[in-house]
Amino acid sequence: MSKLIFRFNNQGVKIGANSKEILGGKGTNLAQMAKLGLPVPPGFTISTKVCEYFYKNNKKIPRKVVQDAKKEISLIEKISKKKFGDLSNPLLVSVRSGSRVSMPGMMDTILNLGLNDKTVIGLKTQTSNGRFAKDSYRRLIQMYGNVVLGVESHFFEELIENYKLTKGVLQDTELEEEDWDGLIQNFKDVIKEKTNKNFPQDVNEQLWGAISAVFLSWNSKRAKIYRKINYIPDHWGTAVNVQAMVFGNMGNDCATGVAFTRNPSTGKKEIFGEYLINAQGEDVVAGTRTPENLIKMNKSMSKIFQQLKKIFKKLENKYKDMQDIEFTVENNKLWMLQTRSGKRTAKAAIKIAVDMVSENLISNKEAILRIDPNTLDTLLHPTLDEKAEKKIIATGLPASPGAASGKVTFSAEEAERLKEQMQDTILVRIETSPEDINGMHAAKGILTARGGMTSHAAVVARGMGKPCVSGSSKIKIDYENKKFKSGNYEIKEGEVITIDGGSGKVMLGKVPTVKPDISGDFSKIMSWADKFRKLKVRTNSETPADTKIAREFGAEGIGLCRTEHMFFDEKRIISVRQMILSKTADDRREAISKLLPYQKKDFVEIFKIMNGLPVTVRLLDPPLHEFLPKTEKDINDITKELSMSHNDIKSRIAELHEHNPMLGHRGCRLGISFPEIYEMQCQAIFEALAECKNKKIKLVIPEIMIPLVSTAAEIQILRNLVDRTAKRIQKKHSIKIKYYVGTMIELPRAAIRAKDIAKFADFFSFGTNDLTQTTFGISRDDSGKFLNDYVENKIFNKDPFVSIDERGVGELIKIATERGRLEKKTLKLGICGEHGGDPASIEFCEKSKLNYVSCSPYRVPVARLSAAQAYLKKNK
Ligand code: PEP
Ligand code: MG
Repeated sequence: MSKLIFRFNNQGVKIGANSKEILGGKGTNLAQMAKLGLPVPPGFTISTKVCEYFYKNNKKIPRKVVQDAKKEISLIEKISKKKFGDLSNPLLVSVRSGSRVSMPGMMDTILNLGLNDKTVIGLKTQTSNGRFAKDSYRRLIQMYGNVVLGVESHFFEELIENYKLTKGVLQDTELEEEDWDGLIQNFKDVIKEKTNKNFPQDVNEQLWGAISAVFLSWNSKRAKIYRKINYIPDHWGTAVNVQAMVFGNMGNDCATGVAFTRNPSTGKKEIFGEYLINAQGEDVVAGTRTPENLIKMNKSMSKIFQQLKKIFKKLENKYKDMQDIEFTVENNKLWMLQTRSGKRTAKAAIKIAVDMVSENLISNKEAILRIDPNTLDTLLHPTLDEKAEKKIIATGLPASPGAASGKVTFSAEEAERLKEQMQDTILVRIETSPEDINGMHAAKGILTARGGMTSHAAVVARGMGKPCVSGSSKIKIDYENKKFKSGNYEIKEGEVITIDGGSGKVMLGKVPTVKPDISGDFSKIMSWADKFRKLKVRTNSETPADTKIAREFGAEGIGLCRTEHMFFDEKRIISVRQMILSKTADDRREAISKLLPYQKKDFVEIFKIMNGLPVTVRLLDPPLHEFLPKTEKDINDITKELSMSHNDIKSRIAELHEHNPMLGHRGCRLGISFPEIYEMQCQAIFEALAECKNKKIKLVIPEIMIPLVSTAAEIQILRNLVDRTAKRIQKKHSIKIKYYVGTMIELPRAAIRAKDIAKFADFFSFGTNDLTQTTFGISRDDSGKFLNDYVENKIFNKDPFVSIDERGVGELIKIATERGRLEKKTLKLGICGEHGGDPASIEFCEKSKLNYVSCSPYRVPVARLSAAQAYLKKNK
């Protein structure tokens, strides 16, 4: 076996992005800080390889690791001049997890390891602080009892709370040494009662118990859920960091804190952090005591504050990124415990990237690669209308920006349940813990009564891009009766509230919103992205409103105008139904003639907005069941239009019923059976162009797209129909019209026979929704019922309807691309399925040399950035 243990300042591994695979993020960064000469308590990292071994070998730890760890402990003893398990001068260590990417709060940590009934006396004598020694010991028993021995933490918390009640005090800091003595005994009794084991007095047993527990926590329920949400592979495993303890809770010249080198909410270049005098790290993040703003440290511990400021700068210069830092002050000496790239909101990510380019820390290419395209979504959606009337019922800390409205819910389970019913919720908790992760994911926003800007709720919400108001201390939550009070207001479960994570305000009811501002830094990043990308970005849109939004977001054309969506309108649908239900060509023609003016008007409007940019109009592709009348009223309405009786219509509906409408009489099959429908649509397109010409509107070159083709003959017939219609209209209006005719590739046969099909097509657009459906034979409408099981059983890594299945569907795209271009070099290729807005799929499109992607309007900026990233990654 290769090296499995690495000392922080003498690693034997090149520190960089790759070392995270072995040392984990935390281990790598501790090593890096030690190398920079920063004050890091001595320690070592046990490699992720040991975690792998642990799981493959019945949860055993290799002998070599035990031996090497012993040597490392002796070295720590030497540096710190303390001894592990020594009765008069005991060394205490922390045991912490650390995987390749940060998984905040998802795995376990054990502090103060090395204390037992005897060493605690040594610690007391040595520090002349009995209260501190006993408090540290009870913390160890509590953490160890919970993490290693599996005793639920509330048993310990309840003992403390009850004790404080009987003593009549509020804060833990008001408890004396003797109080902790009693509680230590009670804690030990709880462990014995619940596990039938004693809290171990042997410090080595403590150490290996803790290390094993950290490895085990890689597979805890919450860690698994977090990995699933964030697509982190299960096989990575975690490293373990063993490090000499330093204490922030030894008195008033001690402190502990967390800090970001820039504001992670807004991105502003300012020190942002919190600290607590006389406390241990978990007190800050757990939100049990509300911490002080770090700026105040400039007064209370000004030397340390200045030292921290210098370190922040050094770390930013080294990592060239905003850092999230943990530190401790022990008797006026600063110790650095952690640094990592800090989680941030999309807004902050953009500002930091742009600022760092102007500070010459990074290039604009690097800036583009820094931003997670998926998070842009949060910036593109509306924010609260400043002018709207708001009934503010509470305020808290602006922990994660954005506005959200939803029904109040008090549990993660309820938030999940309501999400399944497509209901928006705000998860309201006293404080959140990692167990709430699912509920936070399901809710639209999070409101907590306790906790600071770096509490679990705040960090996780920012990571998810969810609005969060934390530490709203005036709200009193009553879980049992499912309500909360804030001043005179009482809000029950199910009532709607709005939270604004940018201002920290909590409001009654649903507050109206306004369009977001996408100028400034956002548009700067977008313009850099546009400079680097090769893929064009179009939009899927058929309404003037959506088309306008897409243009504002930078769409360079319409890649898919689904014409059937233009007929959902109440008036038009009657004519569409008439068209579908008609038994005679005359009836059908009459219905179609009613639709023609609507279609023409729609196209004129869209062409006008697109102002000369390409517009792909897909001819009708309705799965029939979406349009057939369903209620008695619908049927009555249509009898008036058709010369058919109520019963005749019913039997016609029965006749048209399809067992599998997605594979039925849709797409080009409809055009083959009823050519007059497609003819009318082409007429509308061409006459709209004629009207645009008259009105001196810049002409677009329409790309007429035939859906669901599987054979060359289908497109040959329908292309002729388009050409015939074009000729007729050109003659009628005495104009020359330029247009293209192409097809969607959404059936495996079409991909395979792409060479034949390309003879009659000027372009292909991959309809990857249907192509995924037909390649897997999985109904896109019914897959929700079992897709989760497939992801859970690792049959699918990701939902193939969201992110392209490169090995199957992707292979068909490659085949069609090659064969199509073999026939016609100039063939234009794009994608218009939902995958066109998914960053991973866009990367695939770049690799496959497509010309453009087309996505829904709100995904356009996501696609612009992803396309640039894909190009930069490919050409690195
Ligand atoms: C597709 O199948 O990918 C597509 C874009 O068409 P629709 O979703 O309308 O079937
Ligand atoms: Mg389709």
